[in-house]
Amino acid sequence: MAINVVMLGPPGAGKGTQGERFAMGHRIQRISTGDMLRDEMHKGSALGKAVQAVMDRGELVSDQIMIDMVTERLSRHDVTDGFVLDGFPRTVKQAEALDALMIGRDQLIVLDIVVPEAELMRRLGARMICEACGHNADGRESTPGVCQICGGKLTQRADDNAMVVLERFKVYQVATKPLVDFYHGRPTFRAIDGAQSKDRVAADLVAAVETISNGACGGGAR
Ligand code: ADP
Repeated sequence: MAINVVMLGPPGAGKGTQGERFAMGHRIQRISTGDMLRDEMHKGSALGKAVQAVMDRGELVSDQIMIDMVTERLSRHDVTDGFVLDGFPRTVKQAEALDALMIGRDQLIVLDIVVPEAELMRRLGARMICEACGHNADGRESTPGVCQICGGKLTQRADDNAMVVLERFKVYQVATKPLVDFYHGRPTFRAIDGAQSKDRVAADLVAAVETISNGACGGGAR
C-alpha cells in the first residue's frame, strides 16, 4: 500500500524538516509547494514572476495555480509508492481538490503538527534556507551560513522577516486552520505534538502512520 501523507501545521511547525526525514526514511517523494514555487522564482519562469510578490507579502498564491501544480505533480510515476505533501492543501478548496485527486489511490493520512505560537515565532526568527539545495536549517545549530547537507550558502527566507511572519500567521489562522475541522473526523487524521525534540516528533509521526496503515489493512477503514 502506498503511504500518502499530508502534513498540516502553521509556519515553523516543522513540516519541512519532518517531511524531509519521513520521506527519506520511507523512500517516498516529499512534495513541498513552497519549494516548488521558490524553484520557479529562481528559474525566473512566468509562474515564478507571477507569484513572487504574493509570496514576499506572506499571502497565498491562488487556489487554481496551486491545484494545477499539485495535479501535475501527483500525475508523475514517482509517487506510486507514496508522497509527503508539505504546504498543500492550505485552503478548504485545495483540500476538496486533493480529495478528488485521491480517488482510486490509497488512503490519505493527515498529520497536524501542533506547536504553541510563541515557540513558532522563536523558530522562524532563526530559520535559514540553503540557496543551493533548499534545505531548511536552524541558524542556531549550523556552522554559521553553511548548509550541512551540501555546503551551500544559507540565507534567511525573504518571507521570514517579522512583519511577513505575522501576516503568514494571520493567513494560516483564517485560511488553513479550518482544514483541521475539515479532516479531524476522519479515521486517518492525527494531531502530533510538534513542541517536542525533533527525534520525538519524528518517532510520533512514524507511529501514527503505522497505526493508521495497520488499521486500514486489518479493519478496512478506507
Ligand atoms: P511555510 O511552510 O513556512 O508556511 P512554505 O514554504 O510552505 O511556507 O510556503 C511559502 C509561501 O508559498 C506561502 O506563504 C505562500 O505564499 C506560498 N504557498 C505555498 N503553498 C501554497 C498553497 N498550497 N496555496 C497557496 N500559497 C502557497
